[in-house]
This record gives sequence, C-alpha cells and structure tokens, in this order.
Amino acid sequence: MFDSLSDRLNGAFKGLRGKGRLTDADIDATCREIRLALLEADVALLVVREFIKKIKLRAKGAEVHGALNPAQQVVKIVNEELVGILGGETRRLTFAKTPPTVIMLAGLQGSGKTTLAGKLSYYLKKQGHTPLLVACDLQRPGAVKQLQIVGERAGVAVFAPHPGTSVGGGENPLGITAADPVNVARDGVAEARSKQHDIVIVDTAGRLGIDAELMEQASNIRDAVQPDEVLFVLDSMVGQDAVMTANSFADGVGFSGVVLTKLDGDARGGAALSVREVTGKPIMFASTGEKLEDFDVFHPDRMASRILG
Ligand code: GDP
Repeated sequence: MFDSLSDRLNGAFKGLRGKGRLTDADIDATCREIRLALLEADVALLVVREFIKKIKLRAKGAEVHGALNPAQQVVKIVNEELVGILGGETRRLTFAKTPPTVIMLAGLQGSGKTTLAGKLSYYLKKQGHTPLLVACDLQRPGAVKQLQIVGERAGVAVFAPHPGTSVGGGENPLGITAADPVNVARDGVAEARSKQHDIVIVDTAGRLGIDAELMEQASNIRDAVQPDEVLFVLDSMVGQDAVMTANSFADGVGFSGVVLTKLDGDARGGAALSVREVTGKPIMFASTGEKLEDFDVFHPDRMASRILG
C-alpha cells in the first residue's frame, strides 16, 4: 500500500540519521523532500502546504526527548501529523435510537459501492445485526442483480424492485427495472421495519462523472429515507480528481463519512491523504479487495504506521 510514498518518505529521513542535533536547514531540507513525496503521491496541494507548515513548526521547536534521537523525533512528528490528516481517532457507525439504522451509500460508478454494500452487510451481520440491502442503483444495467449476488454470498436479504416493472406500469421488454429509486428506498426501509431488520443499507446509482441528475437523485433518496449515515465511497486509485469528486458529493448530497476502496491496488495515496482534510469528514472503513472479507474499520494510526513502514 502506497509503496512509493513510503519509500520517498523514508528516503527523506535518511539525511537526518546520525545527526546529534538538527539545524533549521536540516529540517527545511527534509521538509522539501517530504513535500515532493506527498505531491508525487497526488496529495492535494492545500493539504500538503498545511502538513509541511505544521511539521516545520513542530520540528524546529521540538525539545529533544531523552529516548529519541533527532531523526526519530522528526519521524514521530510526521507520524503524528499523518494520523491527524487521516482523521485522528477511528470513527464508528452511529446507530439510530429506534431501529432500523439507515446507511446510504453514494459515489461514482465503479467506485465499489455495490461490492462495499455486500462487505458492510457481511461485517454487520457478523456483529449480530440483521441488515437488509436495498437496491436503488437502477441506472447501471446489472447493478440490482449484482447486489442480489453479493447479498446471497453474504447471507443477507436484498430488497429490490421486480424486474420488468416500469414507471408507467407497462411491460419492459428488456427486463430493465425502471422503478423510481426513491420509492424503492422508501419501500426498502418499510420492509426492514416490518421484517425487523435493524440496519438498512441503501445502494444508490453512480455515474462515471459528476452530474446534476445523479446528485439530485441521491439527495431525493436521502430526503426520503433520512439516513443515519451517508457514506461516500471513494476509489483510492483516483488521484487529484478525488478531491473534486468528494467536494461535489459534499455539496450535492452531503455525507457523514468516507469509505476508501481498492486500497489493495497500487494507489499512490493522494485520495486517502486528502479526503479527510478537504471534506472534514472521517474515513470510516477501508476496502482492500474483491472478497467479502477484504474490508475493515479504518484506523488512522495503523495507516500512518504502514505509510512510514
Ligand atoms: P459500483 O459501480 O460503485 O457499484 O462499483 P462495483 O462494486 O461494481 O465495483 C467496481 C469494480 O471494482 C468491480 O470489478 C469490483 O470487483 C471492484 N472492486 C470493488 N472494491 C474493490 C476493492 O476494494 N479492491 C479491488 N481490487 N477491487 C474492488
């Protein structure tokens, strides 16, 4: 994960090794290297600037701790600041006082929403919950079927409109569902209530790029089901564009947390390191593969330690 960033950061600390005390020039030189490493990893410029400012300030004013040599002290500061930009504390799901808890997933097409719906439901089921998956991605052909397949794998019930239903009630020769996703979401929550599911996970449609219609549909679903959590699903492989996409979703739909997907790929790290600072919303879960089990709660401290090797 983020191998090249790790290598670059460790390279930046090399110049400090063996030094008895650090001059301001030493710290400036190291910060220049760290800055380049972050920019190369596609971290948003704004985030890089703030990060470097904090490191410089802390490193230059640092008291030498007994147990740590100056180089180790800089690494410690960088580690702490990395934990900070990744969100500090682990943020857990908020559950509704009166079930069902409604969790809505939003994000671009291909970000991994449907896969995540399966993983999250599986994770919650293992914790003793009784989730219901609701198929509101009626845009992408095959998305409903895909959710049914992941639901089956996870052993979790799926609520979906019947194939062939259309808005006007007429026959749909292709079998593509044209039901209204807002109604499906609403009916899904009602179904959960009547069948005693304590959690509802609503999978919504994404487009390949941001568009107004997508945002409107997602916010209509949000208004209809009043979710306890809206999770923005973000593909870690997307570099600088991640910031723009995240901001568009924050403005257009609003979300309470972020899920990073595809952390198993050769992502450079930019999306992961920028999204919390740019949106102010916590990264709550991480998806690390195509299997149901490739998923976990996001721990900022563990991620920072992995980045620093
Ligand atoms: P959606 O359009 O947002 O619902 O995205 P999908 O759930 O269909 O995922 C798009 C593609 O990414 C699929 O081929 C998934 O198998 C794959 N995918 C999803 N999550 C991960 C992940 O964490 N790691 C990897 N390697 N692939 C993933």
